[in-house]
Amino acid sequence: MYYYVLNRGDDVSERLTETFHRLAQQYDMHINEQSPDIVLSIGGDGTLLQAFHRFRHRLEHTSFVGIHTGHLGFYADWKPEEIGQLAHMMGTYAGDLRIVKYPLVEIAITTKRGTEKHLALNEFTLKGVESTLVARLNINDEPFEMFRGDGICISTPSGSTAYNKSLGGAIIHPSFDAVQIAEIASINNRVYRTLGSSIILPQHHHCDIYPRPDQNLLLTLDHLSFQCSDVVSIRCMVAEEKVNFSRFRPFTFWNRVKEAFIGEELE
Ligand code: NAD
Repeated sequence: MYYYVLNRGDDVSERLTETFHRLAQQYDMHINEQSPDIVLSIGGDGTLLQAFHRFRHRLEHTSFVGIHTGHLGFYADWKPEEIGQLAHMMGTYAGDLRIVKYPLVEIAITTKRGTEKHLALNEFTLKGVESTLVARLNINDEPFEMFRGDGICISTPSGSTAYNKSLGGAIIHPSFDAVQIAEIASINNRVYRTLGSSIILPQHHHCDIYPRPDQNLLLTLDHLSFQCSDVVSIRCMVAEEKVNFSRFRPFTFWNRVKEAFIGEELE
């Protein structure tokens, strides 16, 4: 079995990485930077987002697992002290991995230079840089609304607990093939009007965003960001590709939500 470790770069994560390499030798696991079967991320959710984008070209052949060296993460849900147990399970069940597949957002950005397709594990956001974002939204090729405000966030179900949650969006179980469109501070008054609530699109539906021409836009894909001033349109939909997570023990999505946001039950 081939594996690769991507860590956050801090001392704790570096030391855990060394420990994992030693354990891997005992279980006949071999490091492979180009085509790993499993990618172990050691750090936080941000580290797993980096790992996802690094191996985005071979999602079908790779599965991800994360150890958190800070607080419990949504993707990084193994504790540092469980590293021995994780290495044992990876080595023992390598040929018989239990995989869970989570949906992704596909974003096709059309500029004057052509169309580029991207994937996000958490979300894609679109914001104005110097001024309010002004953009028309079409849903399934029908005009829907004219958006004015700080921006728009298009998230996956597993990303619904991240930025989307801060925007008041719903939390969606990752077994739904869906994307959620949430507004970031829309302007609503007698002149300008948007829906105000977030929208959840099922698979095979799409939303096209047409920003007013020549706006300087800030686009983000998970932890990555870039500026673009010649965007013609952006199509958002559920991607055909999915991301694989290796599940070596049950840890349900709702338990993770509870542990991250609610904590201990009240008596
Ligand atoms: P980071 O590592 O500091 O992550 C920010 C926080 O988001 C961390 O606490 C992390 O655990 C949490 N997080 C990431 N993915 C999550 C998920 N799927 N569910 C629940 N929590 C999650 O910063 P980064 O590495 O730049 O991470 C980028 C992510 O930060 C983005 O994908 C976005 O979701 C999130 N973000 C959130 C806000 C906000 O809530 N206002 C604003 C910007 C970015």
